[in-house]
Amino acid sequence: MKLERYEHAKPADADERRKIKPVICYPVDSLVPPDLDAYRAAREGWEKLSETLVPPREARCFDVPAGCFFRIVGVEGPQVGDLNLWAADDIGERFFSGKTRALHGTHLSTGDRLWSCLPYLRPIATITEDTLDWYGFDAWGGSVHDVIGTRCDPYTHRLLAGDDYHHCCHSNLTRALADRLGRTRESVEPVIHDVLNVFMCTGFTRDTGQYFMKASPVRPGDFIEFLAEIDLIGALSACPGGDCGSEHSSDTAACHPLLVEVYRPVAPPRGWTSPQPNAYDRSHGP
Ligand SMILES: [Zn+2]
Repeated sequence: MKLERYEHAKPADADERRKIKPVICYPVDSLVPPDLDAYRAAREGWEKLSETLVPPREARCFDVPAGCFFRIVGVEGPQVGDLNLWAADDIGERFFSGKTRALHGTHLSTGDRLWSCLPYLRPIATITEDTLDWYGFDAWGGSVHDVIGTRCDPYTHRLLAGDDYHHCCHSNLTRALADRLGRTRESVEPVIHDVLNVFMCTGFTRDTGQYFMKASPVRPGDFIEFLAEIDLIGALSACPGGDCGSEHSSDTAACHPLLVEVYRPVAPPRGWTSPQPNAYDRSHGP
């Protein structure tokens, strides 16, 4: 039995406590912001290195050298993508969705950076353009490109629905990385991680705090673009939820492919250098 949400009586000063103003956990004023003008200027005359079409309900890997750009493009119809990123020379260094959320907020857009896990904690990609930035936050608190979800997975599906579905993003990403590295699915599954939910429109309900999704506003031609700050292997899953307006973890929703384009600039952005891993000495004190 679930307990009533409010089991305990309010203290006398409840209202005063609620009125205390919040403070931002991680002010990022001390971080040097990316020089977006320089990043964008580097696109002039760039050369397309590769195109990867991610089929619906599948994932594909792609490689992006440091200082190159990659774009995830909506094609054919509204479709959400689940993105994983690893350092190309060490897949133990991977995107850290939780700390990225703590630093930049629940949803990412232009100028935000994607940070890697501990003990590396460095920006591994920077968002250089987002054609859905107009969306902002809607009346439900929903927005686009979240780092609050995890990825749809067959374990949660088994838990809640009682049967097996093999094309959840977690499984798609596992198969794609296994193929890219020539390793077994079992051996790569532990490095599949919480995603950037590209194009997905999500939030938390104001009354119960539950994670919600709604139909993505993405249209064919919309894209989100990144600069790779280090050599990256990426994997993108075209989620079985399609535009995630109804359900996921099934073959019910209409699904579409997603396109990943990789571009090499004539020269890296002016003044840009690939960031080093975090300088903390890892001694953890005496
Ligand atoms: Zn998914």
